Amino acid sequence: MSKKKISIFGVTGSIGQSTLQVLREERTKNKHEFFVFSANENVDQLIKDCIEFRPRHAVIANQSKYDILKRGLAGTNIEPSSGKDALLELASERVNWSMSAIIGFAGVEVALKCAEFSDVLALANKEALVCAGELLLSKIKFYQNKLIPVDSEHSAIYQCLQGEKRKGLKEIILTASGGPFRAWSMKDLEKATLRDALKHPNWDMGDKITIDSASMFNKSLELIEAMHLFNVSFSEIKIVIHPQSIIHSMVNFKDGTTMAQLAIPDMKGPIGYALNYPERNELCLENVNFSKVKRLEFFEPDYKKFYSLKIVEKVGKNLNLGVIFNASKEIAVEKFISGKINFLDMALVVERVINEKSLLELTQPEKQTVSTLIDIDLAARDVARNIKFF
Ligand code: NDP
Repeated sequence: MSKKKISIFGVTGSIGQSTLQVLREERTKNKHEFFVFSANENVDQLIKDCIEFRPRHAVIANQSKYDILKRGLAGTNIEPSSGKDALLELASERVNWSMSAIIGFAGVEVALKCAEFSDVLALANKEALVCAGELLLSKIKFYQNKLIPVDSEHSAIYQCLQGEKRKGLKEIILTASGGPFRAWSMKDLEKATLRDALKHPNWDMGDKITIDSASMFNKSLELIEAMHLFNVSFSEIKIVIHPQSIIHSMVNFKDGTTMAQLAIPDMKGPIGYALNYPERNELCLENVNFSKVKRLEFFEPDYKKFYSLKIVEKVGKNLNLGVIFNASKEIAVEKFISGKINFLDMALVVERVINEKSLLELTQPEKQTVSTLIDIDLAARDVARNIKFF
């Protein structure tokens, strides 16, 4: 195991905490050097993690929490700072490995910095690829860094493609658990509550991604993410519902072979893979016990119930729409969380926004830049906020 200089952005979230757990379980936490840990609101957890792992810098994005962070780190040699500028500045310092796990569009700029300044970018923030895929991948290529996906499906595909040539690849099969509403009727879905949406059957994740999984917006984002990562077209990706979440995705090759990656659903697996690539370290994870797995099932998704999978076709055919799709989805989720719209309305908000002519015009520039992306994101959020249902 080589010693690495590591930054973890979004350390207090579900992926951030699993990353720390990987480092504890594989007993490498004292071998690496930690550079930056960041959070937004949860200053107590940030202080706790910093005291345990001793990074050189701790950043709290929400500036009003700076004093608490400073007090909590007094007497240590950990440098506290706050705000987005500090975050971006510290993401612009060279490290060997960074975990980009800030949720939503808020994490895109940090991911872009990591693409430039990290030897290896472990990318959990799928929004970075959905909104800024072209820009992010061009930075990885230009600066000769490596991007290893952390999303379990993309980690699975990445693993299946090791040693393979692009020209042998026929299609990608993205698996989806189907979430808590897989067996619900359309009528029941109209009354689905926030509590229902937060009950994921297989994965323990942050709240927003859990809601995205319930609506399958998460799978729609992952489809676009896969197009960017693996250089495939929309028609070269199939989605299959696999309720057991044992197969994390598959690749069909032109010679009739299918490769699949199987593991017990636990994000520590893909995080450990990204941390140790190309090696594999011991983690406290059991292998799949096939005598105990009673069945592995596969179903076609229901595009009426999970309408986001239909809307995303438009993005699949014009990747510049990714930022509009994501921004309107984030606002729709906020509206659902605050009880302003019902579960099925989330997809209708996104459909209305993505068809908005004034926004389409904004997506015409030949080259993506951070400032054009921010402008489009803000404009799409405005349109989404103003949509009313009667
Ligand atoms: P969480 O909501 O659990 O955590 C998000 C992290 O981002 C927290 O550390 C949070 O800080 C920080 N954060 C939130 N808003 C801001 C902001 N404006 N500025 C700076 N930091 C911010 O998310 P997850 O860990 O579930 O997901 C992280 C990313 O990984 C997402 O893009 C998600 O799609 C992806 N992903 C997650 C999986 C999972 O199993 N959870 C699986 C695959 C992908 P604080 O805690 O202080 O609010």
